[in-house]
Amino acid sequence: MKNKIVCITGASSGIGWATAMAFANHGARLILCGRRKNKLEELQQLLNTECKQLIFDVRNRKAVFQAFESLPKDWEQIDILINNAGNAHGLDPVQTANIDDWDAMIDGNVKGLMYVTKAVLPQMVSAKRGQIINLGSISGREVYPNGSVYCSSKFAVDAFTNGLRIDLNPVGIRVGAIHPGLVETEFSNVRFKGDQERAAKVYQGIEALTPEDVADAILYMANAPEKVTIADLVILPTRQANSYVNNRLT
Ligand code: NAP
Repeated sequence: MKNKIVCITGASSGIGWATAMAFANHGARLILCGRRKNKLEELQQLLNTECKQLIFDVRNRKAVFQAFESLPKDWEQIDILINNAGNAHGLDPVQTANIDDWDAMIDGNVKGLMYVTKAVLPQMVSAKRGQIINLGSISGREVYPNGSVYCSSKFAVDAFTNGLRIDLNPVGIRVGAIHPGLVETEFSNVRFKGDQERAAKVYQGIEALTPEDVADAILYMANAPEKVTIADLVILPTRQANSYVNNRLT
């Protein structure tokens, strides 16, 4: 990992933050992406490695491309892209759900991930090397009640990942996805629009994964030998069987 350039979207919180810490500890140079500059500044202070920050909203196609075009020459050749930015917005049946929430999820989790991939790919393709790791979810494997659009967005990430691996096969770029179950981060706070009590209930009695657990698994995917692609990795808390069956401590 020493001196590799690793780009992490959604580095300002949760899984992205922990992944930045893990890769920095292994000597990678980091491109930290997010909308909240203050959080990225805070993170960078903790990292003992060279960093660049790119502040953009993944939903803004123009801003995504401009951000990557702004990288200086010695930061252009990204070795590993970790497409992590994303969130759930709302937990409602289709008939009462807010369409703005749907837009936020489809535009961010799906189109945003695609834009970032497209912006980073030219350098990887011309160098015929690189690795892309996408954050899917167990929600991209089985739908759960009231999560139809978030689940759709993660099913799309899964399909895009598999298609991308086929397209990039001739150029030798490794593509995989990691699909976590419940991870305790800001995720539920965002989903429930700041209702912390409701957010806390999601993780009650479940011994959820920590962002560090997921970061370790991402590092494992990245550290596999060049000839090995970890294409698909599902990681769950032991108390979680799938996206809707949990054995909660009472
Ligand atoms: P989190 O703590 O809320 O972090 C989400 C990150 O994504 C933040 O850094 C946020 O940065 C960034 N982000 C969100 N929307 C963005 C946008 N439109 N433009 C740019 N950046 C954006 O949640 P997390 O749990 O770490 O989630 C990270 C990824 O893991 C997501 O893709 C999520 O779907 C996936 N995941 C989470 C869980 C879970 O249980 N937590 C389970 C499976 C999969 P800014 O707000 O600074 O932009």
